[in-house]
Amino acid sequence: MFDFLNPVKGFGITFTTMFRKVNTEQYPEEKRPTAPRYHGRHVLNRHADGLEKCIGCELCAWACPADAIYVEGADNTEEARFSPGERYGAIYQINYLRCIFCGLCIEACPTRALTMTNEYELADDSRENLIFTKEDLLAPLLAGMEPPPHAMRLGDNESDYYAGPAVAAMPVGGDPAVEGRLNPAAATTPRSGPAHEPGRAAE
Ligand code: SF4
Ligand code: SF4
Repeated sequence: MFDFLNPVKGFGITFTTMFRKVNTEQYPEEKRPTAPRYHGRHVLNRHADGLEKCIGCELCAWACPADAIYVEGADNTEEARFSPGERYGAIYQINYLRCIFCGLCIEACPTRALTMTNEYELADDSRENLIFTKEDLLAPLLAGMEPPPHAMRLGDNESDYYAGPAVAAMPVGGDPAVEGRLNPAAATTPRSGPAHEPGRAAE
């Protein structure tokens, strides 16, 4: 008797659902903002003078469970300085065919060079295009920044960049354009430059 009523109950749920408001999102014509802490594509941030925050330490690559990051560091010189301190990230690649957007890499980064944006439109029909290079990942130059290489403008040594008065001048801590919390509706850094840098392409 009760088994006989079960299908009737099932159709009852179907029938009542027919009169509920349809919740269809008109993507891609209408893009809804993500949650503020959504893990999207990465960005390599800069200091307020335009120097790169990445020091080429490879901690992000070691933390990555998917082996999606490839980094090669190099020495800064006074003639060609890309970051404060001794080293900078000369080659930087993230393979978005492998990345699972877990965020462990940004937790591992000691300088907050690497953060994640809210951008989620990463589909492509080319494996090569989904290996983002340093040029693709670097944050845009904002007002007051100049493209490296150049001398340190915010202090005499790297300590000034991390613990000195220059810290107060840095537009960090919630500035979405700098820290990479970019909303896809507000547009993001367009990809530019060659698809590959020399060196190992993370497979
Ligand atoms: S988000 Fe996770 S999987 Fe993607 S690069 Fe970072 S550590 Fe690797
Ligand atoms: S992004 Fe951060 S963790 Fe990765 S190499 Fe650069 S400084 Fe090191």
